[in-house]
Formats: sequence, structure tokens, C-alpha cells
Amino acid sequence: MSLTEIPVEFTSDEKGYYDRQCPNEKCEYLFKIHMEDWKEKASDEQVFCPMCGHTATSDQWYTHEQIEAIQEIAASYAQSYISNELDKMFGKMARSMRGNKYVQITYKPGKKISFVNNPIGQRPEWELEITCEKCQTRYSVFGSAYFCPCCGHNAVERVFNESLDTVQKMIESIEDIYNTFEKSYGKDKAESMCRSMIEGTLGDIVSAFQKYAEEIYKQIMPTKKVRVNDFQIIEKGSNLFKEATGKGYDLWLSHDEIEDINMLFQQRHIIEHNNGLIDERYIQNSGDISYRAGQRVIIKNQDAMRLLRYVRKLSDGLSKLGGMQNG
Ligand SMILES: [Zn+2]
Ligand SMILES: [Zn+2]
Repeated sequence: MSLTEIPVEFTSDEKGYYDRQCPNEKCEYLFKIHMEDWKEKASDEQVFCPMCGHTATSDQWYTHEQIEAIQEIAASYAQSYISNELDKMFGKMARSMRGNKYVQITYKPGKKISFVNNPIGQRPEWELEITCEKCQTRYSVFGSAYFCPCCGHNAVERVFNESLDTVQKMIESIEDIYNTFEKSYGKDKAESMCRSMIEGTLGDIVSAFQKYAEEIYKQIMPTKKVRVNDFQIIEKGSNLFKEATGKGYDLWLSHDEIEDINMLFQQRHIIEHNNGLIDERYIQNSGDISYRAGQRVIIKNQDAMRLLRYVRKLSDGLSKLGGMQNG
């Protein structure tokens, strides 16, 4: 056994998972993969980070803790190796000098340093377990994830629904968030932070929807080039689907709902590109005459919740066009 071939054993967590960490220094995302799947399904050449999609060979995914534990084992091995070699060396020397009347070497071995090599355990198991719909790899994450570590598959449907759920929980708990902020930053700051969070949810919902609609469209029309921004405008997106499948957004939303969602999409545009200030283009594109140019748009919780509801209706409908099933 040479120093580079120390057998290191890993044991899984209670649920059978093995800790891994993204080697991309900007990411260092921690995740777990089922130990059997790691052995059987992960390829040596390419493993994907579930968070950032970075790829690297399979030997680069040790967590910081695992590397520390491996180093401890290696240090323990080196110490016991050296102590053994010293024993051997001095023992041999002592023996060869026996009978030499000028030099006498006696060597008494010190306390033996034994090599400790306990199996390396994992962090306690996490709640969220995901099975890849494409390759059936089981992995577990904290928070959320985008890519399967084995095949890199991006579970569009799941990621989309998770994003919407996160936004919804944030809107629903805005009062608690306000109270927490108030304690740390005072009333005024808490008020503007919450306002900005609610305004931000419009952007979150719209960008999640755009990405989702683009993916579904690509499944139906793999060769036609579309940009994700084509789905930023309700009418344009609806027309693309209508041309491709004969079904547009008006199949799932009423006329009034389409006008309303269009207005909310336009308000998001104003928030993201004009610092929330109404301009003539907004009034023209949204048909919303309750504002005049130069006013600031007002977004309330119920506006964000309404947008969420429309987007869910649309994506339900679109998922059937793309052949995706809602989990
Ligand atoms: Zn990563
Ligand atoms: Zn997979």
C-alpha cells in the first residue's frame, strides 16, 4: 500500500445519500445524490451541478468536510507509516551493530502510532428528494435545484412550479417579513423594502413564465427560432402558440383576464425599465387610463396574486400542448 492508495470508505446518510459539492468556486453548492446512483449512474467524465450546471469529472465533487476528513486519514496514515519505518530502521541498525564492541545501539520503540481509518459519514439527511424524470437519478437538495447531477436534465415544469410557489409564499408572508424588517430597520425602511419586494414579484413571475413558455414552444416547434423575450408580450406569445397549434391564450383566459394580465405584464416592464414611472407607451400598450404619464405605478399584494393566478392557468393549458404533465 503506497501513500496514494489509502482505502477511504464513505457511509451514506440515513436515507442512503452521499454528500457532494460543486467545484465551481463561485457556486460551491452542496447537494446529495443517492449512493447507489452515484456508483451506477454518474459518469466519470461528467457530473452536473444541480444549481449552476457546471460540469466536471466525477473525482472533483468532494465536499470541504470530506476533503478535511480524507486529509486527516492521510495524515494518520503518514504518521503510522513513518513510525513503522523508524521502528524497522532502528531495529535493523541495532541488530546489525550487535557484537560490535565499539558501538552499541539500543533502540526501544516508542508508543506505536496506529493508523485510524474510520468511514467518513455524511451530513444529516434533507427533506427534499428529487427523482430525475429522464434518468431516474435520486438526489436531494436544500432549497431548490435546476439540473440533474447525472444527465444535466433541466426539469422545466418542476422548476417553474417551485418558483411560483416560492413567490406565492413570499407574498402571503409579507406581513411577517414586514415585522422582521421593522425590528431591524424601523418602520420607514421596512415599508419600502416590502414594497420593493412585492414589486419584484411581478418580475419573478413574468420571467418564470417567459422561460416556461419558451421551453414548451421549443418542444412543439423545435426548429423555429424564438427568443425568450417573445413571451414577454402577451399578444405576441399567444399568437406564436396559435400559429403553431391553433390554440392561443384566449382558450384558457377570458377576454377581461387577458386585458388584465397584459396590463400587469406592462407594469412589470415599467418597474424594471423605467423605475416604476408611467410613460405614454405604457398607457398605449396597456390601455390603462387610470394613470397619466409621470405617475408612479402602485403594486399591491392582490395584484401579484392575480398575476400568479393567470400565469398558473396559462401554464396549465400550455403544459398539455407540450405534452408535459403537471406533477
Ligand atoms: Zn455549481
Ligand atoms: Zn437525470
